[in-house]
Amino acid sequence: MDRRVIEALHEVGVPFRENEPFSRHTSMGVGGPAAVMAFPRTQEELRKTLAVRGDLGVPHRILGGGSNLVVAEEGLDELVVNTADMRHVEVRDDGTVLAEGGANVIRTVVRCCRAGWRGIESAVGIPGSIGGAAVMNAGAYGFSISDALEEIVVYDENGARTEPPEGWRFHYRGSSIPEGTAVASITVRLRRDEPAVLEKEIRELQLQRARSQPGGRNAGCVFKNPPGLHAGKLVDEVGLKGTRRGGAVISARHANFIVNEHGAAAGDVLALLDLMREAVAKKAGVELELEVKVWRPRA
Ligand SMILES: Cc1cc2nc3c(=O)[nH]c(=O)nc-3n(C[C@H](O)[C@H](O)[C@H](O)COP(=O)(O)OP(=O)(O)OC[C@H]3O[C@@H](n4cnc5c(N)ncnc54)[C@H](O)[C@@H]3O)c2cc1C
Repeated sequence: MDRRVIEALHEVGVPFRENEPFSRHTSMGVGGPAAVMAFPRTQEELRKTLAVRGDLGVPHRILGGGSNLVVAEEGLDELVVNTADMRHVEVRDDGTVLAEGGANVIRTVVRCCRAGWRGIESAVGIPGSIGGAAVMNAGAYGFSISDALEEIVVYDENGARTEPPEGWRFHYRGSSIPEGTAVASITVRLRRDEPAVLEKEIRELQLQRARSQPGGRNAGCVFKNPPGLHAGKLVDEVGLKGTRRGGAVISARHANFIVNEHGAAAGDVLALLDLMREAVAKKAGVELELEVKVWRPRA
């Protein structure tokens, strides 16, 4: 990593750490170090961090809650912008909610429901950050975050842009927001309902998840559902439930989950992903597409 990045981050006053392990910042708990991980606390610090990156031309990535990520064991010789400290949320009387990119989705949903605002309650079981949810167009039970979006503020090395959601394309578990462009905040529009009704609903949704998904360290569904099919069912039908590689296992409860049970290495998880994809292609004739992001050193 270009040492000028360190000097420049010092100079602009953005906190950072060197050789910071991804295993500490991902729900799967695997992955080697990021050469430099910056922790901007405000949108101005985010702007400065991305300007440093642009001036020096170093490769970079944007890290949210790390709940949809598998990072290679060798880590990344890159500048990683961790949004965790940008987590301001404003629930307004007009039913709009402004949430910064690093705000936690579940906490934001619970806060809106307690204040009597309906519209994003289906996202109550989705870990990770608001920015990650926007980029991934995260969702559940027929809802996707793009359904409620009113505005998105993104930053790249040229500064900030405020766009209505129509400025971007959103699809099943993805969007046209380019890799490396940071979602600094989103605004969603909600409607009035009774807090007690909403709280009951989110408790039920949480119970439903607890019944159908494994606990422990995982990254949610690893493959997208192919049109009209369920990736978990396909993996189950080729007999891979419970298959282990090192400390990682294909969940016996839900075959689209890989769980880090005993100090798994990234390689264990990647080996299971390959095995699942190859077995389903060979035996069921279906090409599975990754939902988790796999971060490897760039070629
Ligand atoms: C137990 C469990 C259950 C889950 N259930 C669901 C579910 O029901 N539905 C669902 O959709 N997902 C689910 N997920 C997956 C995951 O929570 C979502 O994809 C989530 O939106 C990822 O957000 P994140 O902040 O953790 O992103 P990360 O994992 O940090 O990153 C994912 C991608 O988003 C990008 N990104 C993150 N933050 C930003 C930002 N501020 N600006 C620009 N790019 C950014 C990253 O560069 C990366 O490409 C689940 C995961 C777990 C562990």
